[in-house]
Amino acid sequence: MARDRGPQCKQCRREGIKLFLKGERCLTDKCGVERRAYPPGEHGRIRQKQSEYRVQLREKQKARRFYGVLERQFRAYYDRASRQPGVTGENLLRMLEARFDNVLVRLGFAASRRQARQLILHGHWTVDGRRVDIPSYQLRPGQVITLRTDTKVVDSVRDSTDLVSAIPAWLQADHDGLTAKVLRPPERTEIDTPVQEQLIVELYSK
Ligand code: SF4
Repeated sequence: MARDRGPQCKQCRREGIKLFLKGERCLTDKCGVERRAYPPGEHGRIRQKQSEYRVQLREKQKARRFYGVLERQFRAYYDRASRQPGVTGENLLRMLEARFDNVLVRLGFAASRRQARQLILHGHWTVDGRRVDIPSYQLRPGQVITLRTDTKVVDSVRDSTDLVSAIPAWLQADHDGLTAKVLRPPERTEIDTPVQEQLIVELYSK
């Protein structure tokens, strides 16, 4: 499976915002954005001209990096979102939120999307009783996800639950039983991803 293996803190510094890609470390003063609050690279400290295209491009890159999705897959999400009824940008965010790896993070069962992906790929989780090892799997309302009891990762999953402050209202979590349910699709106001999706739509619809 193709995935972005580049340095994660550099991605945050490039976007000028904490994307919380490294779990617990992101909450400490070791965070790359806290320590070097300027873009990476030789010209990082030089102020760059902000064209309209550049602003739109950065917004798309920020969303892509936040969810850990490569360009081709992100574009495919956009194409699907634009074919659905409703507001394209919101449809796009809703699909990204419903990814299995993202839901594990939102529920507090993984400290980062990268960790969530690893847990899923190694087959530790089931959806409605069936093992699902696809991080991009789209969860639907009513589906129940559960950590398999015969896995060795129970302790690390329990540790991750300490990091989450609140579970979004569209999800229901049982941190003791290490199980959860998707109640409904998320509303836009319940998605706290720091992106302006309209800029992404403007970029792709050129
Ligand atoms: Fe981003 Fe986390 Fe690195 Fe901070 S520690 S720069 S939030 S990945």
